[in-house]
Amino acid sequence: MKCLVTGAAGFIGSHLTDLLLRDGHEVIALDDLSTGREANLAQARKNKAFYWIQADISDLSAYQKIPVVDWMFHVAGRADLVPSIEKPDEYFKVNVSGTYLALEYARRVGIKRFIYTASSTCYGIAEMVPTPENYPCVPRHPYGLTKYMGEQMVMHWAQVYKLPALSLRLFNVYGPRSRTTGAYGAVFGVFLKQKLAGKPFTVVGDGRQTRDFTYVTDIAEAFLAAAKSDISAEVLNVGSGGTYSINRLVELLGGEKVFLPKRPGEPDSTFADISKIRAALKWVPKVSFDQGVANMLSVIEDWQEAPLWDEASISEATKNWFKYLK
Ligand code: UDP
Repeated sequence: MKCLVTGAAGFIGSHLTDLLLRDGHEVIALDDLSTGREANLAQARKNKAFYWIQADISDLSAYQKIPVVDWMFHVAGRADLVPSIEKPDEYFKVNVSGTYLALEYARRVGIKRFIYTASSTCYGIAEMVPTPENYPCVPRHPYGLTKYMGEQMVMHWAQVYKLPALSLRLFNVYGPRSRTTGAYGAVFGVFLKQKLAGKPFTVVGDGRQTRDFTYVTDIAEAFLAAAKSDISAEVLNVGSGGTYSINRLVELLGGEKVFLPKRPGEPDSTFADISKIRAALKWVPKVSFDQGVANMLSVIEDWQEAPLWDEASISEATKNWFKYLK
């Protein structure tokens, strides 16, 4: 198939690009390199079935540069919670307007499959774990809200225009190539740099909160399985099948801890009910948490250039979080 991957130079997009090429497809990789990195596509570039377009998905003229494709994987978007509170405009432009333009492009070319990258943050603080897809969505911050608005548009296009589309709600994705610079964000990047620097891990709360950490190659396989299926207009959770505490992560990484105040608006546990995707796509997660953490430790040098966070800089970076999400 001829595939378009938006956000292909990013963490998830680049792993998906590698998998599609391995599976024998042509990939048109689109990215504006605002947060993605060309180095993530070094392996993919060697493949004759790889094409590169540098463009911004929220710019209408970008779509004139894209040929007609069969499958579209819409992975591009603004990530991270903290900057979404500070600059909601960027998140609406890229995650909402950008998704609208992507959907209209898909409709115009008569796409065969459209797969959207949604987020488990749409659930906000779910009382029910494992959380099924029909659990009410109450996003707690602009990042979660804009990803959820994108998903609602995708479902609407599927319903009204019969766009053959699925939305995948991803739970705490981790793995090699996860972003190492910029805003204070996902716990893995923060901890790996702290380990490299011989500094203590900054554990939020008592560290007993748990996350459904899902390994990036399992995520890429879920996208491929979603494209190959003929189910449409559905939302599917993608999780690891388990949930793991921050204290367990520290144990596996090995090192000292310091404790930070618990944050408002953060769930004590995220845990996907994955019975729907198991049944619908015959997809199962393959990489265990212990294995995934070991893989991350084997590429820890990649975090050499990452910012080193400590109690003081985290407290400064999360000021607006405490101000607005309480
Ligand atoms: N976390 C932590 N120390 C940090 C950053 C995060 O203990 O320096 C915890 C955080 O409280 C949460 C978990 O790690 O329970 C995952 O955080 P992340 O920001 O990666 O994802 P999310 O909060 O969106 O699930």
